[in-house]
Amino acid sequence: MEGYIPISFLNDFIFCPRSIYFHQLYGKIDTRLYQSTDQVAGTIAHKSLDEKRYTTSKNVLQTIEVYSSRFHIGGKIDMYDKVKKLLVERKKKIKRIYDGYVYQLYAQYYCLIDMGYSVEKLKLYSMDDNKSYPIPLPIESEKYYNGFMRLLEKIRQFRFDTPFSPNPNKCHRCIYNNLCDVAC
Ligand code: SF4
Repeated sequence: MEGYIPISFLNDFIFCPRSIYFHQLYGKIDTRLYQSTDQVAGTIAHKSLDEKRYTTSKNVLQTIEVYSSRFHIGGKIDMYDKVKKLLVERKKKIKRIYDGYVYQLYAQYYCLIDMGYSVEKLKLYSMDDNKSYPIPLPIESEKYYNGFMRLLEKIRQFRFDTPFSPNPNKCHRCIYNNLCDVAC
């Protein structure tokens, strides 16, 4: 895959590399046509941020477009507190910290850093149960940093026409199941 990598691709790619093709294809149409119930709930949960209603503080940046010239990744951040130097990604309900959640935060982190902001703390926030999960900075976690770099490399090298073995467990849970030619 060439060009810049949208931050939203990271989680999708971990779930299934082929899903990013469908994500691109259906990303611009009404998402209610293909989103699962969980995803719709997640979208509604993010609505207040998308409409910049979460806070009116001038020190908090919400849903701004960000871009990393170093890694050629870009997208939106959820919330960044300039005073606390804190970057937050909200999820509807966090049951466990998936690597993809952390990589999403790292992508946002590098975008903000490359745009000249200072970020000293990262946090995932679970809205349904009001729980916060501090996440180590890339420099504090070799495991997550290396995983993030490997993921970017895999996305860059991915070609849609390379031989692929679908995972039935994932296909059964995949929102693109009806659209995918190799779904099982
Ligand atoms: S249906 Fe299966 S192979 Fe196709 S995108 Fe979804 S998980 Fe991947």
